[in-house]
Amino acid sequence: MPQRKMKEFNINNLVRSNVAGLKPYSSARDEYQSTGSEMVFLDANENPFQTDVNRYPDPQQRGLKTELAKIKNVSTEHILLGNGSDEVLDLLFRAFCEPGKDNVITLPPTYGMYKVLANINNIENREVLLNSDFEPNVEEILDSVDQNTKLIFLCSPNNPTGNSFLEKKIIHILENFNGLVVIDEAYIDFSNKESWLNKLKEYPNLVITQTLSKAFGMAGIRLGICYASVEIIQILNKIKPPYNVNELTQLRALDRVHNKDVVDSEIADLLKQRAILSEALVEVNFIENIYPSDANFILVKVDDANKRYGQLLEKGIVIRNRTTQPLCENTLRFSVGTGEENKKLIEALKNIE
Ligand SMILES: *Cc1c(COP(=O)(O)O)cnc(C)c1O
Repeated sequence: MPQRKMKEFNINNLVRSNVAGLKPYSSARDEYQSTGSEMVFLDANENPFQTDVNRYPDPQQRGLKTELAKIKNVSTEHILLGNGSDEVLDLLFRAFCEPGKDNVITLPPTYGMYKVLANINNIENREVLLNSDFEPNVEEILDSVDQNTKLIFLCSPNNPTGNSFLEKKIIHILENFNGLVVIDEAYIDFSNKESWLNKLKEYPNLVITQTLSKAFGMAGIRLGICYASVEIIQILNKIKPPYNVNELTQLRALDRVHNKDVVDSEIADLLKQRAILSEALVEVNFIENIYPSDANFILVKVDDANKRYGQLLEKGIVIRNRTTQPLCENTLRFSVGTGEENKKLIEALKNIE
């Protein structure tokens, strides 16, 4: 077990008092879960006529969690599913952060939703910039913590920079912060670094989020995943909307997870494409730096991001201009597309002056 250089971690000191005292909504499907087909279901005011979706979905998504647990090698009680990671992240705010009083720490340049969710929930967002290697400034982060700091968001691999944070930096934060450390692993399947999932049992303050939106190719169905201790998952379950993951999403996700080999071959293909794209970008004369990527996008530094963004748009290619982000002056972010799409991008880049 790692040495915790702080007092005993206790999740009950973190949860909002109204959430701790909350009696959750009990749905019809919570009170009686179907076990066979012989029962007559007249408990939920559903319409009895078949449309394939006339019944409420399983509020605990048991089928999907069971399959995810297998491919991720965790047990189902460590999993909470949401309507995209966005809902999962919002639930973390709502469970642990008292509006107008508590604060969270984020590390720009990073995913924009943490800040938006902090604003929506009226939670102070303390920003501690990454260093020039896009790594967390650990001492500065810990210096920013006070008794009302509930969550620290670490996006690794980070969006938009593409790098994974050094393990020792993350461990230092985990071992010296008495709130929750949320590691957003939206891009973990594109990385050769290990997921922090294997460390869940070691760190009671570790929360990991993943998504089916990127490597699994299912941004349209909205399925986000949270992995954490049983205690944390139980708290989040109390406040989630009962039917937050709809039936169509559960079915489509299950089908995709069953076909993990197809997902894996698409990931392998995208990684090949990422390498090809990255090599081709070296030949573009106005690209000054190509940042290494553990994700399905590449961040580059150019001479004039606004100008280059406009020129690509004129050629019908939409990329992300990150120039207004801290430490990201004159950077552009390219998602890795199909071989053909990437060729078009390279072609366009080489033909603008
Ligand atoms: C794309 C992305 C997500 C995905 O969010 P969903 O709501 O699950 O689609 C989460 N975190 C980061 C850092 C991302 O870039």
